Amino acid sequence: MGLQVWLDDQARVLRLSGPLRSALALPSHSGARVHDYLERHSWLVLEGEPADWQGLALDLDFHTVLGHVLHTRGWLLRQGEGWMLQLFDIGDLLHERDSGRHEHAEHQLAVQIGDALREAGEAHLVQAATEQLQRLAEHWQAASLRLMLHEGGQWRSYASSDDWPWPEQQRLQSWLEQLPPHALLDTRAYPDWLTRSAGATLCLLPYRQGAQVQAWLLCAGVKQRLQLESAEPLMQALAQPVVSRLHQAQAQRLACHLDQLQGQLGAGWWQWPRQEPLQLDPSLAASLGLPRVLSQAQWLALVHPADREPAQLALEQAWAGRELKLSLRLVHAEVPRWVHWAGQLHAGQLRGFLLDISALKEQEQQAGAARERLENLIASSPAVIYVQRCVEGALLGEFYSASLTPLLGWANDSEQARQPGLAVHPDDHGLWLQRTRSLLRDGQVRCRLRLRDSLGGYHWILDEARLLRDDLGQPREVVGLWLDVSEATEAAERVRQSEERYRVLVEDSPAMICRYRPDLSLVFGNRPLADYLHCSPEQLVGMNLGQWMSQGQRDEFLQRLQALTPQQPMSSAEICLQLPGREHAWWIWADRGLFDEQGRLLEVQAVGRDNTEVRRSQRQLLQGAKMATLGELATGLLHEINQPLNVMRMATANALKRLQNGDVDPAYLEQKLQRIEAQIERTARLVDHMRVFGRRSEVEGTRFAAWSAVQGAVALLEEGLQGKGVTLQVEQPSDQPQVMGHADQLEQVLINLMVNARDALMDKRGGQGKLCIHQTLTAGQVLLWVQDNGGGIDPLLLERIFEPFFTTKAAGVGTGLGLSVSHGIVAAMGGSLSVDNRNGGACFCISLPCA
Ligand code: ADP
Repeated sequence: MGLQVWLDDQARVLRLSGPLRSALALPSHSGARVHDYLERHSWLVLEGEPADWQGLALDLDFHTVLGHVLHTRGWLLRQGEGWMLQLFDIGDLLHERDSGRHEHAEHQLAVQIGDALREAGEAHLVQAATEQLQRLAEHWQAASLRLMLHEGGQWRSYASSDDWPWPEQQRLQSWLEQLPPHALLDTRAYPDWLTRSAGATLCLLPYRQGAQVQAWLLCAGVKQRLQLESAEPLMQALAQPVVSRLHQAQAQRLACHLDQLQGQLGAGWWQWPRQEPLQLDPSLAASLGLPRVLSQAQWLALVHPADREPAQLALEQAWAGRELKLSLRLVHAEVPRWVHWAGQLHAGQLRGFLLDISALKEQEQQAGAARERLENLIASSPAVIYVQRCVEGALLGEFYSASLTPLLGWANDSEQARQPGLAVHPDDHGLWLQRTRSLLRDGQVRCRLRLRDSLGGYHWILDEARLLRDDLGQPREVVGLWLDVSEATEAAERVRQSEERYRVLVEDSPAMICRYRPDLSLVFGNRPLADYLHCSPEQLVGMNLGQWMSQGQRDEFLQRLQALTPQQPMSSAEICLQLPGREHAWWIWADRGLFDEQGRLLEVQAVGRDNTEVRRSQRQLLQGAKMATLGELATGLLHEINQPLNVMRMATANALKRLQNGDVDPAYLEQKLQRIEAQIERTARLVDHMRVFGRRSEVEGTRFAAWSAVQGAVALLEEGLQGKGVTLQVEQPSDQPQVMGHADQLEQVLINLMVNARDALMDKRGGQGKLCIHQTLTAGQVLLWVQDNGGGIDPLLLERIFEPFFTTKAAGVGTGLGLSVSHGIVAAMGGSLSVDNRNGGACFCISLPCA
């Protein structure tokens, strides 16, 4: 049994026996001591002589032939003269003790690793894991460790103890996916992996929860082979806290996320254990303003009375195992809240969620109301509202509003309604095809065409349609409306025709027709007007009528337009224009103002007639009459000129006589010469005035004092009248207002009247009569009176004296034109000429408006 070693007193080995003897490595020399058989550290046990070792328990470790150490324990016995060491193999005992120690150490390490990871703050977890990996790597004498976690469907490196010798993350990924989940794997045991990993050794340890591997610990360059039993607890200690903390964090994030989502949705959970009150999700209860815990009676009291019975029935059925699902109103707040209540029986309690759907319900109600309004509108619309469906590029009628039958007499399901193209007027077929093309191309269309009703009559229809497309942009349907515009279209046609007629009338009219704005710019003018203005009718537009008028004419014209009112829109006048390349033109011009609702003048329509020829002959007539007057005056004028000649002759003769007598008195001579000069001046004035009077009148009138015409006439006639014995009485007025017209013409009128008075006085009284001229003023008028006492005019003839060629005078004496021409002149100046018999003679009155 065991090993017996016989020794002498010097501890030299005499003999060996026992089964262990064969395992010992024997020293090479003879006479070896027991020490030579032992490991060096066992020498310490055997100090001194064998006698010293007696009674001691001796633990001795021997060299063996196999190279390992043989652990023995025993004691020394006295055997005769020598000693015997009785030893037993305690290798197993020691091994057990060692592995117990090792296990304890590993357990300690596991506890420390676990504690370190559990205590690490959230932010430092990776760092702590890295540190613990480092520690484990030292413990296992591995080059590097790496912890891979399963996250988001793939393996992610979570922490690493050192520089990782395996660069290919991707290859690792696919390996880990294929690995059997249950055991420690060592690439050294799998030659094919070893080749794949280019010889790098790798040991993989799984961490499982249930059947699922949650993490792999990868150990690179492990010196000794790891044992699953010893490595697993350490792996657990490392991975478990990391994984569980990560799961916890993830769960927290999810819960938080869920809370947020519920908050946004207005949703939350509820649960109702049997025989206990209803419990609500705190945040849901807060958002709905409800208590967290409610009895059944409290809960039902919150439900709107109309929803209470369905709620109660649904609840009973839910307790019986049916699914709970209904929408109801809660009336605890001012405005009822709509909620969706769903749940199910689960492990003896009802559980589910509550969703606030007030906004949804409100939208639903609004949409419903809008839809109802729209339907009402469609039903009551006079237009036909229709929907056409697109079927492979063709448009087929699908829906028509109720007004289809009253409008066209078609039934909703008739063939025409399905294919309206069949009822389109033959002349409008092209339009109809164009409509479909435009719709499909542009997405909308508006056209006017004729559709046949059920009685065969045609209606003008305004068709307005829009194309709707589906999500892919493909044409889906057409929505449109038809409006019966027959009346409007026919009325427009009638208007067009009548416009055409009037247009032709206006175009072909010999009169000038135009429209112009209040600033005198032309909007339209016909051909006669264009011809007068030497341009085309098109060029007329935009031209200003005022450019052919003098400043005075234009002012007068504008003043006349300003006087137009909606009540008095018409006005006419004779206007004078300076036309291009011509002398003055006179147009009789009639205006009609067009006003807006506020009574503002927008435009003027005018019709004009050229009066230039008439004017010209009038002027010639006037001139003729003037010349006749001059002729009549000739006798009187000869006298007028003769008189000063006689005076001058006398003065000259007397002066000469004195000179011949040698009686030269300078004062006398000077007096004579002055008299001659005065007479020359008087004659020159007369001749000058006659020249002015004989001239043709100016085209346009000017302002002048009416009395100046009296003075002119008197100057011409004064001497002649006095010569005939007529007393001329002229009352010079203090105020001499102005009138508008031609002074020479008014003077001619006065000359006519004075000559007529002279003739009557000569005829009736042999010249012994009186001629009075004076002026009076009444409301804006100047009145010039010419009164004689020549017996007046026969009342029977009074009516006729203004007629042309009426005269009572002998042939060759009177022309009968004087009064007629005078009447015309005064009327042209806007005044009137009248006559009366009074104070034994005729009394003429010229009445003129003050300018
Ligand atoms: P005429 O002088 O050439 O006859 P008028 O037209 O001037 O032509 O006059 C027409 C007529 O009116 C005269 O012929 C005369 O009979 C009458 N008449 C005009 N003025 C007077 C007057 N002052 N007194 C009497 N008769 C007058």
